[in-house]
Amino acid sequence: MSLKHNELSSRAIAVIPGGVNSPVRAFNAVGGTPIYVAAGRGSKITLADGRECIDCCCSWGAMILGHGDPEVAEAVHCAALRGTTFGISTPGEIELAERLVRVLPAIEKVRLVNSGTEAVMTAIRLARGVTGRDLILKCEGCYHGHSDAMLVAAGSGVLTAGDGAQVASAGIPHSIAHDTLVIPYNDSAAAQRAFAAHPGKIAAIIVEPVAGNMGCVPPLPNYLQTLEKLAHADGALFICDEVINAFRFHFGLYSDLVGLHPDIVTMGKVMGGGFPLAAVGGRAEIMDALAPTGSVYQAGTLSGNPVAVAAANVVLARLEKESPYEKIARYTKAVAEGIEAAAKDANVPLCVQRYETVFTPFATTQPPRNLAESKACDASLYARFFQGMLARGVYLEPSQFEVNFISAAHTQMDIEKIISAAKETLETL
Ligand SMILES: *Cc1c(COP(=O)(O)O)cnc(C)c1O
Repeated sequence: MSLKHNELSSRAIAVIPGGVNSPVRAFNAVGGTPIYVAAGRGSKITLADGRECIDCCCSWGAMILGHGDPEVAEAVHCAALRGTTFGISTPGEIELAERLVRVLPAIEKVRLVNSGTEAVMTAIRLARGVTGRDLILKCEGCYHGHSDAMLVAAGSGVLTAGDGAQVASAGIPHSIAHDTLVIPYNDSAAAQRAFAAHPGKIAAIIVEPVAGNMGCVPPLPNYLQTLEKLAHADGALFICDEVINAFRFHFGLYSDLVGLHPDIVTMGKVMGGGFPLAAVGGRAEIMDALAPTGSVYQAGTLSGNPVAVAAANVVLARLEKESPYEKIARYTKAVAEGIEAAAKDANVPLCVQRYETVFTPFATTQPPRNLAESKACDASLYARFFQGMLARGVYLEPSQFEVNFISAAHTQMDIEKIISAAKETLETL
């Protein structure tokens, strides 16, 4: 589409597998040449070919204050001048941990890591170490990073126990896949059957409370409460993977909003302030099982990195003070309803599922409740919608199996532009 992007893409493909450092950036789900970003400012990104787009990815929600925020940039600049890493603890890490513990009821202690993947890896090892059990129960379509144990998802909506589990990547030993049980999301009965089939054997159930990685799929009423009860009745831990959810809907965890009591919580994205920074936290007795107090090993050369921590401290302080959530939710609702109305007018089978500050346009008429329903959506229609929006200066997620994000930097004008781009696009489909 753009000569500049074609040229960058050829250079990238020659030296980086698929030309990208994370697969979805290759646009496999939507076709066309991937884009490259030169810069970001507020709600906008400027592409390498000079075009400007309204950004609805916001680095998968991490950039909740928008791009290039001056206060964050200043904090990062000052932190970098003081030294970018020491391999020795710094006061900023304590400040961040204190803030998380103060604000999040489920978290008495927290360890900082470099990515959501690492946070989940640690959570799983911790659950296994604390319970002395091996099996992990996860929901189909929930993404928990790219560690071996979490890249297992059954191909069907049926409960698959060990042997039947389908591995979502090559290179994962059967012995590891065998210990991950997969159930459909939003299906309490399947969870009940899993615990009944493996009494006293499941270390933890891990769930994305508001699923974002099969597109936006909110939990059905009481579903998460049932998972928590089933886990605790069996002596298993309940892990909420809030890498997207934490600090996205309000200044805290989704699990606080609905009265859940997760034993372990993982956070990233917003919480990381736009840097490779994530966290795993929980009750003190569980967290103290980590080395050096406990026997569950976990470490990191760059963990608690001072530059990343400086950014996170500023972002979280700002979110607490400014609480942009109500505005973001209002804008998200307007965008979702605007796109949906435009689809109706244009007679295009597309609906928008949203929860508070996140949304996904699904090329179908019935909002999906699980992976099977999400997968049944029309991928080629979504691809054409995505390309039409991109051509009109709106960057949506390059796949239906993702959520879109509005930031505090988006304006009423951005929202109107997104909706009018959707109208124009949908009329051509
Ligand atoms: C993004 C994400 C992860 C992985 O985080 P990375 O920082 O990409 O490793 C884990 N869990 C959930 C729910 C996520 O959305």
